[in-house]
Amino acid sequence: MGIVSGKRALIVGVANDKSLAWSIAQALAAEGAELALTYQGEILEKRVRPLAAQIEASVIGELDVTNDVQIGSVFSKLKEKWDGLDLLVHAVAFAEREDLRDRFLTVSRANFAKSMEISAYSLVALARAAEPLMEARGGGSILTLSYLGAVRAIPNYNMMGVAKAALEACVRYLSIDLGSKNIRVNAISAGPARTLSSSAIRDFHTMAHEVEARSPMRRGMRPEEVGTLAAAILSDLSSAVTGQTIYADVGYNITGM
Ligand code: NAP
Repeated sequence: MGIVSGKRALIVGVANDKSLAWSIAQALAAEGAELALTYQGEILEKRVRPLAAQIEASVIGELDVTNDVQIGSVFSKLKEKWDGLDLLVHAVAFAEREDLRDRFLTVSRANFAKSMEISAYSLVALARAAEPLMEARGGGSILTLSYLGAVRAIPNYNMMGVAKAALEACVRYLSIDLGSKNIRVNAISAGPARTLSSSAIRDFHTMAHEVEARSPMRRGMRPEEVGTLAAAILSDLSSAVTGQTIYADVGYNITGM
């Protein structure tokens, strides 16, 4: 018996086998959950389908989180497939490459709005769609992914730091709205991991080396450590934990000089 045996989980944000969402999917599958994955566009579908097959997950459909029709369609397919939903993983973020370097000051109104919509508002949209399906199961657990740049000014993280600050605030407000329905909402603030998204951040390797050199554990975070923590937070073992941002960063966030 795994810690999420019998739970039904939707995972949004698997792009390839380097995605943190993929580490979470593997950990949830190993701990007994039944999984559904989404993909964004045809190119990613080709990458996501073989990954889903490895863990006997189903691919429930295309989901661009800015598209309300696709959100509606994914959740109505889930309703048909299962009698409800227990777990939701939101591992989606976006900022234009030009806004992940040099000066934050130069971000345009349109780019700011787009990053906020994809990286923060999308959690609200997905949580709203998940609410009735989770209520049908007597409660649920929602998890998103953040980074230290939400609460500290990290060179080049810029626009994404502002979006992550909003995301962490969304976690707190959503946890209040959904708590009385036994639906918990939390974030993992992960250490740097080499993925498609992080490759857009200028000097990302410096962020990663800094953690290896200066974190209490003197090493980088391993993606599978996000997966195992995610399974623990999503599971009923964490039934009193909501509204939190929990660090999986080998302790880097507590350091000063
Ligand atoms: P990733 O593999 O590139 O995953 C990011 C995902 O977001 C991709 O699947 C991407 O799809 C998706 N996405 C972007 N715009 C979308 C939209 N409009 N609709 C639906 N999906 C969309 O990178 P990752 O590093 O694992 O990122 C997952 C989460 O972890 C993000 O929230 C990220 O900020 C967070 N995080 C990452 C790190 C790190 O160092 N890697 C550290 C802390 C937190 P496309 O490829 O099609 O755009």
